[in-house]
Amino acid sequence: MEIKKLIEESYLLRRAYVSDDVVRALDNLKKYSNVKSRDFLFPSGKEYNGWMVPKKWDVKEAKILRNGRIVYDGLKHPLGVITNSSSFVGKVSKKKLVEHLHFAPNRPDAIPYHFRLQYRPWESDWGFCVPKTLYNSLKPGTYEVVLKTTLIKGVMVSREFILAGKSKYTIIFVAHVDHPGQANDDLTGCAVGIALLNELAKRYRKPRYTYKLLLTQEILGSVFYLHTMKKQELTALTYGLFLEMLGNKNTLHLQKSLLGDTYIDRVAMLALRKFRNPRISDFRESAGNDEIVFEAPGIEIPMPSISRWPYPEYHTSDDNLKIIHESKLQESVKYLLEMVFILEHDWVLTRIFDGLVSLANPKYDLYVDPGQIIGGGLHKNKALEGFQYQMPRYLTGKYAISDLAAIFEIDFGWLVDYFKNMEKKKLVSLSGI
Ligand SMILES: [Zn+2]
Repeated sequence: MEIKKLIEESYLLRRAYVSDDVVRALDNLKKYSNVKSRDFLFPSGKEYNGWMVPKKWDVKEAKILRNGRIVYDGLKHPLGVITNSSSFVGKVSKKKLVEHLHFAPNRPDAIPYHFRLQYRPWESDWGFCVPKTLYNSLKPGTYEVVLKTTLIKGVMVSREFILAGKSKYTIIFVAHVDHPGQANDDLTGCAVGIALLNELAKRYRKPRYTYKLLLTQEILGSVFYLHTMKKQELTALTYGLFLEMLGNKNTLHLQKSLLGDTYIDRVAMLALRKFRNPRISDFRESAGNDEIVFEAPGIEIPMPSISRWPYPEYHTSDDNLKIIHESKLQESVKYLLEMVFILEHDWVLTRIFDGLVSLANPKYDLYVDPGQIIGGGLHKNKALEGFQYQMPRYLTGKYAISDLAAIFEIDFGWLVDYFKNMEKKKLVSLSGI
């Protein structure tokens, strides 16, 4: 499946938090999904912990004129008007006008993203986002502003995609579907998530865990999603991963969960071994997103995030299709599949023998000669040697395959095969994590 296509269809929509365009984008994405979905609806004005669902917003007309000639048309790009701007029609001096213009200081030709009013529905302002070059070229004089927007009661729509597993314990992937006129942040996370769940549905008919993908409004959507969720479902949410900015040309960047050493952190780190030059940051040292909501007190769902942060086009109109690479989107799915492989094949190991076992005896055939090429992604023979000598003492019912993969720096998949063999030879029992 070509993932970039999903982004191409929706990135130029004016995806304010509460808008028809955000629903259009969700519907565009859903067309490609092979799994079930359900919507979460939060009406404008709904409040929780001081967060408030904003009104539904749209722009009808957005012109700045001087001497009857259009100087700027804010409708030409979805970022041209500040999100949730109120209407203003009237004549203003240049001095007054520039108080309502915003530009990106470091990218003179790009239009920046102004999002603040969506988080502060109790504030009201009007304004445009413009290229710095246009801002600098404005001549003194009187300007006519025709900015007509609608701010009416509406519904904030978040959509959850579900692949049910054997267990109710759920791994939730989260991405945000808002951000008008931008591609990498974060339609790439949405599209990669859709492609991932499709692939999981193909590979695992009934996976060990339940997998969810939440496409929502940054911070706000997650706040209300978690707040309105039934207690039972909330407690089933075991681990999360935020998917963000996955199409630009950087290598993968893992940001750890708040505690940094949870099980999902270990899985995320192990999966990263197969990818070139990954970067790793502590909590909130890379791009900040909804992990802050999932990690909030009383909710406390460990949520690392995977991104390709940073990139210079961030939060401007330059965050467009030109910087999105299909190979990077595909690599992101591959990474997530690697994570899921670990989640689905990890077992706790308990020995069913005492004393030293001759692993080389043909009836076991489990001796791995460190002098041979044994393949399977083993890092180095030294690691294998250590593994062979020490591993039997780790089979205590306290360690999982992922622990040994981390301790001995040995490929997880190779270890799965090894311990499956050991189980067949009745030397070890494998139990669920
Ligand atoms: Zn953003």
